[in-house]
Amino acid sequence: MRPFEYVRAENAGAGVDAVVGVPGAKFLAGGTNLVDLMKEDVERPTRLVDISHLPLHKIERSRAGLSLGALATNTQTANHPLIRENYPLLTQAIVAGASGQLRNMATNGGNLLQRTRCNYFYDTAMPCNKREPGSGCGAREGLNKIHAILGWSEGCVATYPGDMANALYALDASVRVRGAGGKERLIPIGEFHRLPGEEPHRDTVLGHGDLIVAIQLPVASAEFARHSYYLKVRDRSSYAFALVAVAAALRMENGAIKDARLVLGSVAHKPWRSAEAEAALKGQRLGEAVFQQAAQAALQQARPLAHNAYKVELAQRSIVRALTRAAHLA
Ligand SMILES: Cc1cc2nc3c(=O)[nH]c(=O)nc-3n(C[C@H](O)[C@H](O)[C@H](O)COP(=O)(O)OP(=O)(O)OC[C@H]3O[C@@H](n4cnc5c(N)ncnc54)[C@H](O)[C@@H]3O)c2cc1C
Ligand code: SF4
Repeated sequence: MRPFEYVRAENAGAGVDAVVGVPGAKFLAGGTNLVDLMKEDVERPTRLVDISHLPLHKIERSRAGLSLGALATNTQTANHPLIRENYPLLTQAIVAGASGQLRNMATNGGNLLQRTRCNYFYDTAMPCNKREPGSGCGAREGLNKIHAILGWSEGCVATYPGDMANALYALDASVRVRGAGGKERLIPIGEFHRLPGEEPHRDTVLGHGDLIVAIQLPVASAEFARHSYYLKVRDRSSYAFALVAVAAALRMENGAIKDARLVLGSVAHKPWRSAEAEAALKGQRLGEAVFQQAAQAALQQARPLAHNAYKVELAQRSIVRALTRAAHLA
């Protein structure tokens, strides 16, 4: 590991200031992703600004719905009674991730900002536009079994690997961010992560020094609580990232689907919400034929790479299964 300066932020404002003025500075929360990447020499911060002790741990009701502190751990969040009762999809997504020990350390803000698990990103002997802009993409013509089938660019075919953000997107969450000068803004989660385009080194729309302070869940999304399901498909049943994940949520009225949310994980550089699948579900009665149509619609734009065509059918089957479970038909 390379030498770095350690700074303990006294408050949120001081933390932001300590990062903004130093190009190589980074926030340190639970450290479960950042410190790993530093050991691998992938991340090379010159200064770590420790925010882990700042009072951003609360999970509480707000006017908009529920506010999840950026520094609440994944365990605290998944186990909170208000989340279990009103947003069980989020609990399911969080506990599908990592391991108990990791979730005890991992924070909500850090979880959103975890980096891709592309093997070439981790291997500093290989070209990677995300790690080193302009160096090329080792995965485009390499082993790309775990990579994207939607929304990729020639510059980067990596996926966003997290689980929590998929559920948050299905629940229409927003991310509260504090920038330089203490200004706060709210970013809808669907606009928070980016597609790679020409700038794969930018995972999100955050600027340098932007501090996530909270995640907001709207009241209205609690109406999906009865009919929601998070399905994660992976090579082994624990301690593994998704090959494909599905966050499915339905709102029923008079026996028909009044509203639907469908988000795919680990198929693109960001959580992938399918407006086509949601349109195919709205107004319909529950049943396998309708779920199949939604699954077809969701993958219509898929462009698999040399080694991941399997993800198209896997995603379609996973969508049908997640909707079936959300609808309590199995
Ligand atoms: C073995 C292993 C398996 C895993 N499996 C899964 C899985 O299956 N599913 C899954 O979703 N995740 C998984 N994870 C990832 C894990 O969830 C993340 O490492 C964790 O959520 C990151 O949170 P952290 O607080 O430790 O972040 P840190 O490592 O401290 O920080 C991560 C990044 O976020 C930045 N940051 C942190 N907090 C803030 C903030 N408030 N504002 C602005 N920037 C901030 C940091 O500067 C850093 O760049 C796994 C991790 C490991 C090590
Ligand atoms: S897919 Fe993206 S992260 Fe992976 S090697 Fe290519 S540029 Fe790097």
